[in-house]
Amino acid sequence: MKNLVKNFIIAIIIFLVITGIFSTLTLSAKKVENINLQKFIEQVNLGEVQKISIEGNKLNITLADGNLEALRKETDETLGELFKNYNADPEKIKNIGIEVKEDGGWSYWLNALLPFLLPLIIAIALIYYMMRQVQGANTKALMFGQSGAREAPKNSKNSVTFKDVAGVKEAKEELWEVVEFLKNSKKFTLLGAKIPKGVLLMGSPGTGKTLLAKAVAGEANVPFFSISGSEFVEMFVGVGAARVRDLFQKAKKSAPCIIFIDELDAVGRQRGTGLGGSHDEREQTLNQILVEMDGFEANSGVIILAATNRPDVLDPALLRPGRFDRRVILDEPDINDREAILKIHAKGKPTAQDVNLRKIAERTPGFSGADLANLLNEAAILSARRNKTHIGMDEIRESVEKVMLGPERKSHILSDKERNITAYHEAAHALVAHEMPDADPVHKVSIISRGRAAGYTLKLPTEDKHLHSRSEFIADLAVMLAGHTVEKEIFGEVTTGASSDLRQATRLARRLITEFGMSEKLGARTFGEKEEMIFLGREIHEQRDYGEKVTETIDQEISHLISEAAKTALEIVRKKKNKLEEIVKILLEKETIEKEAFEAIFK
Ligand code: ADP
Ligand code: MG
Ligand code: ZN
Repeated sequence: MKNLVKNFIIAIIIFLVITGIFSTLTLSAKKVENINLQKFIEQVNLGEVQKISIEGNKLNITLADGNLEALRKETDETLGELFKNYNADPEKIKNIGIEVKEDGGWSYWLNALLPFLLPLIIAIALIYYMMRQVQGANTKALMFGQSGAREAPKNSKNSVTFKDVAGVKEAKEELWEVVEFLKNSKKFTLLGAKIPKGVLLMGSPGTGKTLLAKAVAGEANVPFFSISGSEFVEMFVGVGAARVRDLFQKAKKSAPCIIFIDELDAVGRQRGTGLGGSHDEREQTLNQILVEMDGFEANSGVIILAATNRPDVLDPALLRPGRFDRRVILDEPDINDREAILKIHAKGKPTAQDVNLRKIAERTPGFSGADLANLLNEAAILSARRNKTHIGMDEIRESVEKVMLGPERKSHILSDKERNITAYHEAAHALVAHEMPDADPVHKVSIISRGRAAGYTLKLPTEDKHLHSRSEFIADLAVMLAGHTVEKEIFGEVTTGASSDLRQATRLARRLITEFGMSEKLGARTFGEKEEMIFLGREIHEQRDYGEKVTETIDQEISHLISEAAKTALEIVRKKKNKLEEIVKILLEKETIEKEAFEAIFK
């Protein structure tokens, strides 16, 4: 409704502008006065008229003093007849310059056509504006086929360089070569070397793929066209392909340059899988990318960078030699990388003396670069809220937990009974984690609500782990089940507080058996083929590649693993009852126990 009113107003404005232009065009610069016949003859007789030009039935009169006048006469009456009928002075008429103009000219046509043209123009304008509305503010109507790739300005002061990217050493080395190619491609082509066409950046979300691509452009100092895979896909079939064509055309014109396709998996998924109609368009787009990549020679100076966090779903045709044959993997940052990333993002943020970024790096295993950047930002916000001039270690520590577990909910008040149950629950998690040698050590226990959990136990590995063993998983299962077990043991019944623990444990147990081959009964094989299928917007995974009997065995094994874990937890809780009570007592008193205080309990 609002749009309709807006469109209407716009149409009226357009109408007013057009009529305005029309009237200023037809009126000459000087003001023309319309007069009647009597006055005209009077002026003729007084000798004031200098010139008359006849245009159809219209007489344009120029007076001796320069003023202009206009007059209409009857259709079949000539000017001579008019003078005669009104007894004009023949002597005076002789001195008047008379010219006869062609009836017509542009003003005549405008007069005749405008009544028809005007509604047409208004209608077109209305449709145009409505289309813009549908398209959204960003994309311009009638430009569907253009790629819409953003060209990053060259040589701008705040362009990203490799210095702004910490860690990912191998990736940087690989990409440094690309930069070299772009900077002086002659050096390589003289030796007959082929410049890579496509480089695919792979890594989990937030590892810095987009950042690194920007850094390549910044270092090489060449034009950088960036587009996201999802931008190719529009409502209209064929648009994606047109955009790809347009993008490559633009790039070829400004070679040497970089094309960056972010989130390649949005268009580059395997063809021929999936149900529903939407993938037709995607396939066409992908085909066009393949065609374009084959279409230019290796040494044309256009290098295509692409990024994805789902290399497993990409179409094999994209990965074959001659296309994205260079693959650069961005690993999750290890402790040294995390420290370096923190250093980069701590720049420009005043930090207190006691801030030790190494310590923070130790506390944040599994954090991606984006998480770390977010963490320091949260800490800055928190410090500002506390009216501090510097970011303190406490703020950073709190932000780590906030990023990991969600914000604290101090106002979420538990009743005494609930507090008691939560204290036992968390104490049990912590106790079992401490007692199982293969479990990660406890960093913090708390009964302050965070996110949706009533309390939490924070365990962190002592070092970055890339491989996990069966015994670690078994220990994790026992820790997860400790809360549930202790509720049953102490209070005689369980609460809903253990539900997410149980779900997590069940999921882990299933993966142990079906993915990692860690079940003795079922042996070293996987069960279920993970397949990417999109149906009505939902991903359907799992394709069963086993029979009914095995299904039953898997279920039995899951239950077995979980009941064993519960048994282990129960044993520990019973054996170390006094320690459990001690932890509970401190929790009820202080709400949180930090690592040092926790370890002191066991001394
Ligand atoms: P993605 O891999 O999902 O494309 P981005 O490149 O968009 O991740 O990274 C998001 C943000 O995280 C970056 O803007 C940057 O601030 C930060 N970041 C990620 N990795 C790094 C890194 N290696 N060094 C410095 N900052 C990083
Ligand atoms: Mg990205
Ligand atoms: Zn729990």
